[in-house]
Amino acid sequence: MRRKLLLALLVMLAACLLASGAVHAHDGDYDIKGYYNSNNSLMVPLRDVFSALGCRVSWNGEAVVLVGGGQRVEFAPRNHYYLVNGEARDFEVLPQLFNGRVMVDLSFVEDVSGLQAAKNVDGESAVLDFYSSTDRIYSFKLADANMSELYRYDVGQVKEVPILMYHQVEDISKYVNLGEYRKLFVDPGEFAGQLDWLKENNYSTITMEELFDHWFEGAPVRENPVVLTFDDGYRNMYAKVLPELVKRNMVATFFVCPGSFESERHLSPEMIVEMHEQGMEIGSHSISHRDLRDMSGAQLEEEVFGSKQALEKLTGSEVQFFAYPFGAYNHEVLRMIVQAGYRGAVTVAEGLAHINQGRLVLRRVMIEYDDCLEQFAGKITGAL
Ligand SMILES: [Zn+2]
Repeated sequence: MRRKLLLALLVMLAACLLASGAVHAHDGDYDIKGYYNSNNSLMVPLRDVFSALGCRVSWNGEAVVLVGGGQRVEFAPRNHYYLVNGEARDFEVLPQLFNGRVMVDLSFVEDVSGLQAAKNVDGESAVLDFYSSTDRIYSFKLADANMSELYRYDVGQVKEVPILMYHQVEDISKYVNLGEYRKLFVDPGEFAGQLDWLKENNYSTITMEELFDHWFEGAPVRENPVVLTFDDGYRNMYAKVLPELVKRNMVATFFVCPGSFESERHLSPEMIVEMHEQGMEIGSHSISHRDLRDMSGAQLEEEVFGSKQALEKLTGSEVQFFAYPFGAYNHEVLRMIVQAGYRGAVTVAEGLAHINQGRLVLRRVMIEYDDCLEQFAGKITGAL
């Protein structure tokens, strides 16, 4: 009974809104961005959908409140139930926060609105229609990109993530007596094999930014995330690494030093810009690659803050992450990293990165020349 009444009210309200022109799209079509969560439930933005359905959506400091059609619905973050005019009902699928938006699944929308949802997927795009018992009332067009495989998210689950550390991807046969530097190299063929292994085992490469958005902003993250980082900005990053990544639709983070821009062995500014345009993340590795613990004041500021500014000017994007040269830092260095506005920083301490490790001292997993694929796999899963 209540459903019928609610529906009638909603339809009347919608008709009024449409007639008065308060709703922009005259035919009831709206574009919204949705995604599938890890259980294949389609999540849609609460505010967009319920505003279109004629409800008032607000946040009272403690709970999300929906008012419309003669009822008041509210729920607080992390609660497993919502209140409809004071009566508690369990969520079938918990709401999620994505990019600052509250996302709810269709069963919630159906229950609260009394409408039936029908989803029509046509290739890359999809239409979400809401029906009363007789008529199609609203039609939401879901943005194309959001229907692709890439957007199958696993929300708030991943606390531990391998951040792989590479230096040179280069054939070492032309070098003599590399000694301990040998471990800083990875053979290009082996490197390609490692990327293939990641693909075959359903790992998804993400940037540091995506990792932090997931950990600290509640954004969803792709399945089995792994971050690939490359230190020092050697020229083989452009020649040997970039093409292999692009070919596989992968991303990586490159920590570079603006002090090496003129060096033939290192990436030129033009190469860095091109890599960034191809979707790669650029981070700072200081200006000069000297031990930051030996510096203070203006000198340290230049290394930490100046490198950030130089790279931002070059790429036109915010540089959010830092890698300490030699993994070396002290309290003064950490303070400068914070002052300069970095979101996070990575060390060379061995291990998987964890959300509770401290965002300025994240561990990494070093990939070495003599790692075979089993060792590579063992390092990523934390078994080695
Ligand atoms: Zn370095």
